[in-house]
Amino acid sequence: MSEQITIKSLTKHRARLYSKHFTKAFLLSLKLENYAHHVRINEKCKSIIIYLKEPDIDKIIFYISSLLPKKTIKLSKACSKCCEEQKLKQSAFSFGVLSIYTLGIFATTSLPPILTLSISLIAAVPLLKEAMQDLKKRKFSLQAFMSFSLIGACFIGEINTAFEVIYILRGGMLLEQYASNRSKQQIQQLLNSEVKQAFILIDDLEVAIDVNKIKKGDIIVARSGEKIVVDGVILQGKALIDEALINGRSEPCLKQNGDKVYSNTLVQKGRICIQANAIGSQTYISKIAKKVEFALENRSEAEKQADILASKLLKLGFILTSSTLVFTGSILRAFCVMIVMSCPCATILAASTAISAGIAKSAKEGILIKGGEYLEKFSQSEVICFDKTGTLTTGKLEVQKLILNNIDAKELLFNASLAEYRNTHPIAVSIVDYAKKSGINIIQNTNSEILLGLGVKLHYQNDTILVGNKTLMSHHDINIDKIDVQKYFKQGKSVIFVAKNQHLLGAIILHHEPRDGIKTLVENLKKRGVKKVVLITGDDEKVAKHFAKKFNFDETYANILPKQKAKIITKLKKQYKIVSMVGDGINDTIAMSSADVGIAFSSKGSEAAVEICDIAIINSNINDVLKLHDISNFSLKVVKQNYYIGTGTNLLGVGFASAGLLSPIMAGALHVAHTIAIMANASKIALKTYQQNI
Ligand code: ADP
Ligand code: MG
Repeated sequence: MSEQITIKSLTKHRARLYSKHFTKAFLLSLKLENYAHHVRINEKCKSIIIYLKEPDIDKIIFYISSLLPKKTIKLSKACSKCCEEQKLKQSAFSFGVLSIYTLGIFATTSLPPILTLSISLIAAVPLLKEAMQDLKKRKFSLQAFMSFSLIGACFIGEINTAFEVIYILRGGMLLEQYASNRSKQQIQQLLNSEVKQAFILIDDLEVAIDVNKIKKGDIIVARSGEKIVVDGVILQGKALIDEALINGRSEPCLKQNGDKVYSNTLVQKGRICIQANAIGSQTYISKIAKKVEFALENRSEAEKQADILASKLLKLGFILTSSTLVFTGSILRAFCVMIVMSCPCATILAASTAISAGIAKSAKEGILIKGGEYLEKFSQSEVICFDKTGTLTTGKLEVQKLILNNIDAKELLFNASLAEYRNTHPIAVSIVDYAKKSGINIIQNTNSEILLGLGVKLHYQNDTILVGNKTLMSHHDINIDKIDVQKYFKQGKSVIFVAKNQHLLGAIILHHEPRDGIKTLVENLKKRGVKKVVLITGDDEKVAKHFAKKFNFDETYANILPKQKAKIITKLKKQYKIVSMVGDGINDTIAMSSADVGIAFSSKGSEAAVEICDIAIINSNINDVLKLHDISNFSLKVVKQNYYIGTGTNLLGVGFASAGLLSPIMAGALHVAHTIAIMANASKIALKTYQQNI
C-alpha cells in the first residue's frame, strides 16, 4: 500500500509526500497531530508538506497509507513539475489577454466601461474567492484588502483603475511564478546532459538507442569523448574517466573490469562496456540534485520575516487609508493610498526572489542547498567545524611505509587487506589498493565489523584480526610499544596498527594529502566574521595538532568517535548562535545532522551523507565552502536592499498619494515599477562572480 505514496523531499524537519490518490477531501480529512507540528496541503499538486514531529517517516507513510481507499481511484496525472509549468502557462496566457485589453484602453477611449468592468471581475475571480474564504474565517488578509480596493474602485466609478489593480496583481503573480520556476530550471540544468543518444550492445553489435529507452541491465558502450549516461559496472574494456562531478578530482582515473562508473562523468580515453545498474532519475547525481529541486519550498527565516512584514504593512495600509480619508476628506486620495498599500507582494518577493536566486546560483556552481534557511544561516555561522580525513584531506591516502614486528611485509598486508576488503573508508581503500599493487592475493570477504572512528575487526577462520588506531589497540589490550612509530605521529602521518590474535603484526604508515587552499580557506572564513574555525577528527592527537597548527585552526578535537563529534557540536551550539559542520559523511553524519547547517562533500560512498546533509558540495572542492559563504552573504544583502526598495517606495507612494499628487493609475504603476526593480536587483546574485579558485 505504501508504494502509493512517494517521498518528494525529506529533510530533518520537513517531508513532502505525493500520491495520485491524494484528493482534496482526503487531505483535508487527514489528522496528523501526532506526527506533525504543522501541515500544508497542496491539493492541485496532490501533495502534502509535513513539518515533522515524528522523525520516522515510514511510520507516517504507513499511517496515511492505511487511510487510503483500498480501490485504486482513477485520477488525472499530476506532478509538481508539470503542475507548475501548466500554472505558469495559464498565468502568462491570461496576462497576455489582459495586456492586449490594456493596449486597447490606451488606444481608444471609447471602450465600454461595462466591458472593462466585466473583464476586471472575471480576472479577479480567484482573488475574490480567496478573499471570501479568508473573510469567512474572520481573517483580514491581503486578498481581502485588495478585493476592497477593487470593489471600492468600481463603486467610485474608477473602472479603469479597478482593471489596473487586477492587471497589476496578475502581473505580480506571473513575475513571482516566473522567478520561482526559473530557479528550479537552473537547478535542473545541472542534471541536464545534452546526450540524447547512446549505444547499447545487442548480440555483440552496437546499436544506437534513445537515452530515455535504456533499461536497467542493458550494456552500454562508451568511448573517448562521450558522457556516461547510466550508473553501472564495467564489464569489458578500460578507460580514463573524468569523475570531477562526482568526486572533485581534477585528474582522470583509470577504470576497468568490475569498477563502478557514474552517470554524467566523461570518458576521456578508451572504450568500455557498462552494465546499467541505475538509469535516469535513479542515478546518484540525479538523486542528489532532486533534493534541491524542492529546496525552494523550504522557506527561510528571511522569507518568513517577509511574510510577517507584509502582514504588518497590510494593517498599516488599512490605518493609513482610513486616516487619509479622515484627515483629507478626499475619497480619491484615500483610494490612492489604498492602492499603494494593497500590494505588499513586493515585500514578499524581496526575500523570496533573492533566496531562490542564491539557491539557483549555488546549484550552478555545484553546491546543492536543500532549503533557503540553510543558505541564510551559513553566512551567519559563528563557528564552522571541519572533519579532517576525507574532507580536508583528499580521499586518497598513500601508504608510505610498513613497520614490521618480526613478520614479513606480505603477511602484514595480507591480514590488513583481508580485514579492510569492501570497507569504503579512505584508509581501507588505500590499504587494499596498496596490497593489490604489492601482488597480494586479496580474499574477498565481507564479514568485517566496522568500528566507527577506530578501524575494523574480522573473525576469519579461527583468527581475529584488528586493523585500526592506537585507541582500538588499547581497547583490546594490545601492546604497541614493540614497534617505534612516534616519529610518524609527530610528522602528522596516519599510523594504522595491524594485530592478529592479540599479537601485534606491525603498522602501516599512510600519508594524507591535504587539499589545496585550506590555509586560505580558514583565514578567509575568519576575515568574513566566523569567530572560530574548528577541527574535529578521529585521528590521533599529535597528528591533529600538527594539522591544526599548519593551517591555523582555532580549536582542535582529536581522537573523537563519531557519536562524540555530535556531542561537541551540541556543546558548541550552547555557546555560539549558529554552528555549521563540514564533513565527508564517512563517520560524521550524526555530527552533520546535529549542526545548524550540515555540509557534505559528496564523494562517492557517502550517499548517506548527501541524504542527511543540508547542503551538498558536489565537487568536494574546498574553495566551494568559501563560495557558498559569499553567495549566502550576498543573498542576504540583496534581501535587505530589496526590503528598502519595496517598503521605501510604498511609503513614498503613500506620502504622494495622501498629498493628492498621485493618480490611481500612477499608484498602480508604482507597484509594477518596484516589483521589476526587486527582481532586477535579485538577478545581481546570479550575475556576480564569487570567490575565484584559491
Ligand atoms: P576523521 O574524523 O579525521 O574523518 P575518521 O572518523 O574517519 O577520521 O577516522 C578516525 C580514525 O579511525 C582514523 O584516523 C583511523 O585511525 C581510524 N580508522 C577509521 N577507519 C579505519 C579503517 N577502516 N581502518 C583503519 N583505521 C581506521
Ligand atoms: Mg572523515
